[in-house]
Amino acid sequence: MATNLTGTVALITGASSGIGAATARRLAERGASVALVARRKARLEELAAEIEKAGGTALVVEADITDRTQAEAAVRQTVERFGRLDILVNNAGLMLLGPVVGADVEEWERMLAINVQGLLYTTRAALPHLLEAAEDGPRRVADIVNISSIAGRVAWNGYGVYNLTKFGVNGFTESLRQEVTQRHVRVSVLEPGGVDTELGSHNDHKPEVREAIGTFYEQTEVLVPDDIADGVAYIVTRPRRASIAELWVMPTDQA
Ligand code: NDP
Repeated sequence: MATNLTGTVALITGASSGIGAATARRLAERGASVALVARRKARLEELAAEIEKAGGTALVVEADITDRTQAEAAVRQTVERFGRLDILVNNAGLMLLGPVVGADVEEWERMLAINVQGLLYTTRAALPHLLEAAEDGPRRVADIVNISSIAGRVAWNGYGVYNLTKFGVNGFTESLRQEVTQRHVRVSVLEPGGVDTELGSHNDHKPEVREAIGTFYEQTEVLVPDDIADGVAYIVTRPRRASIAELWVMPTDQA
């Protein structure tokens, strides 16, 4: 039987749009107090107002988590405000596509900074609180959900460094799962296929990539952010004994 999230606290990175925003709404509906972390403060404030209007509790945390100090401060602010941390959703990410030959190295650095380093900094800062929650929190279990991608399972031409970051997230997730699962911090990886969000739009300055993404989205009935939020909610509402180590969610239409 699924448990609800009343009395728990969840921190969601990348909550200002797409999958992160949908996940924050969903976890708040299930009773979690949610810390909304991203750089675009106005978006977070809008979402927080919406959550509060629906009877939930939300905290806006403006942070660029590629900066270790800001990632640590985001976790600290959450614990100062709510007194605990039960759930971390590492969702913030960036997908910049294109060939390796002649690539813009700055694009690689931005992807590595958010998809890998941001996730690591936030996870490290959150772990002591999650371990504490697993010991004496309302559910005696805590959760980390890492939003990876189908690109963490399968490599494609033109996805090189995005593939690198998401394969990395998968490997790190499984290693950390083995490290802390017996202390009742569940560590999960969720791998979406195509979801209708702003993710692809960061490639708009590259006509070939823009066209390829556009064609895929035109020809495929892709997922919506709520489909992934449902997956996160499923993972974090399992009974204490059950850990969903991996969840791969694809559009039915995507082979
Ligand atoms: P969006 O572009 O809508 O969301 C990305 C989020 O990441 C934004 O909220 C953005 O907030 C945040 N973010 C980016 N950089 C930073 C930073 N430096 N510090 C803090 N937050 C940051 O895309 P999605 O919702 O699609 O992406 C969410 C996750 O899902 C990503 O990890 C992505 O790789 C993954 N994914 C998405 C798929 C898809 O098809 N859409 C498929 C598979 C995986 P802000 O700009 O305000 O800082």
